[in-house]
Amino acid sequence: MNRRRFIRNTSLALPGWLLFAPFMESCKKKEWLPESDFKGSVAIIGAGAAGIYAAHLLHQRGISVRIFEASDRWGGRIRSLTGFSDFPIELGAEEIHGSNSVFYSLVAASGAAFADDDLSDYAELDGALQSSDTFESDPDVIQMRGLIDTLDEYAGADISAQAYANVNELPERVQHFFNAELANERGTSLDRIGMAGLQEEATLWASGEDNFMLKSQSVLSIFETTFAEILPKISLNTPITEINWGVSNVVLTAENGDTFQADRVIITSSIKVLQDDLIGFTPSLPATTIQGINRIGMDRGMKVILKFSSRFWPDDTGSIFTSGFVPEYWATGAGGRSAENNVLTGLICGAKAEALHLLDIDLVPTLLQELDALYDGQATALYIDNHIMDWGNEQWVRGAYSYPRPGTGNARALLAEPVGNKLFFAGEATHQGGHHASVHGAMETGLRAVMEVLQS
Ligand SMILES: Cc1cc2nc3c(=O)[nH]c(=O)nc-3n(C[C@H](O)[C@H](O)[C@H](O)COP(=O)(O)OP(=O)(O)OC[C@H]3O[C@@H](n4cnc5c(N)ncnc54)[C@H](O)[C@@H]3O)c2cc1C
Repeated sequence: MNRRRFIRNTSLALPGWLLFAPFMESCKKKEWLPESDFKGSVAIIGAGAAGIYAAHLLHQRGISVRIFEASDRWGGRIRSLTGFSDFPIELGAEEIHGSNSVFYSLVAASGAAFADDDLSDYAELDGALQSSDTFESDPDVIQMRGLIDTLDEYAGADISAQAYANVNELPERVQHFFNAELANERGTSLDRIGMAGLQEEATLWASGEDNFMLKSQSVLSIFETTFAEILPKISLNTPITEINWGVSNVVLTAENGDTFQADRVIITSSIKVLQDDLIGFTPSLPATTIQGINRIGMDRGMKVILKFSSRFWPDDTGSIFTSGFVPEYWATGAGGRSAENNVLTGLICGAKAEALHLLDIDLVPTLLQELDALYDGQATALYIDNHIMDWGNEQWVRGAYSYPRPGTGNARALLAEPVGNKLFFAGEATHQGGHHASVHGAMETGLRAVMEVLQS
């Protein structure tokens, strides 16, 4: 269930204005934005959480704003699958991480109910599933948890989490579990994620430790209601492929050759879209921005949704950690979300997602066989349907979410530095307070970019 397991010190390491953000939306106040003489127009690239929230804040200020969205839908990495089961299934963002955030505030203001979270996890150890009552007292799991819970104290070199596990002689039998909790849920694999970035996230995280899931509404529906006034400002199917910021007004060119002008541009494209040069910049971006772009990680990531004619896992099941292709499944309909509770969602990120993509096999039989081994052959017997959402195949996203590689260092700060007082990079990868890879983090970067535009 993508639970974040860091012991986090809520030392309020974020700038003060970001910490006030959670309260603004519910209060519907405008005064917290700085006084500003800015009267120009703003173009926003991307209609995900960062772009929509930025547009909302600018619109509140009476500033002319337009969002250009490459795909045929708004929401970005917030996308819901309806009609597959008796509840909306999240293909992207699913949990609300912490109650101290603007995202939590707007969900609370909407009155949406949360699912119950009184669930137990199961982990595959030595080829069989163990419930949390058992595995929590396993000495190797205790060692693994100790490594995770003390990440905020890590002071060594910026090695990979795999190297850290090796140095600490973490037994092989729990390494898949360590990968699931530490790397897969952060969008990658143990050998790719860097210890310095993990330490930074553990230290800076300030939105709270609890996780929440919506009981019967989709995440997208919350955005749809809250930001209804912004949706008409979105131009869908309009990929921006060229940005000329060397002229007095910035000129944006869409893939079909149409051009648009704006005084300021907020760019919320994912880090992979920027790394793959899907947008050309004239003049070129500063070397420091390019460095920032290239030092942040983002890998392929997919959700595999499996539906069965009936549930074969215990009713209290939360997550299921396996040593196979899927590091973590969760019983998506648990906690009162579904009357049937017959759907499992698997999250596969990083090296395993890339391997599956390259193998180009029919994934479902392979995964069912793996589940059969853990559940006495019941998975194949009871399977009825699937939906696979591979974010690596989305042309204008190209992966799951950003993560710190060894050596990422201050890359997010370099990327977030305004360019020529005209270009402002936002989006989850630009978050400098540990909230990257989340919806609320993306929204906080939208707020940061708006503050910069207003002060430009
Ligand atoms: C599988 C998965 C599970 C997740 N689970 C959670 C979770 O449980 N909780 C949580 O808080 N977060 C979760 N996240 C992360 C969260 O979804 C993201 O951090 C957040 O939605 C990112 O928002 P964004 O605005 O930065 O980027 P995006 O949502 O990617 O929005 C950017 C938009 O820009 C568009 N675009 C890109 N380039 C161009 C261009 N050149 N021209 C026009 N448009 C362009 C894209 O099409 C996209 O719509 C998950 C993500 C994934 C993929």
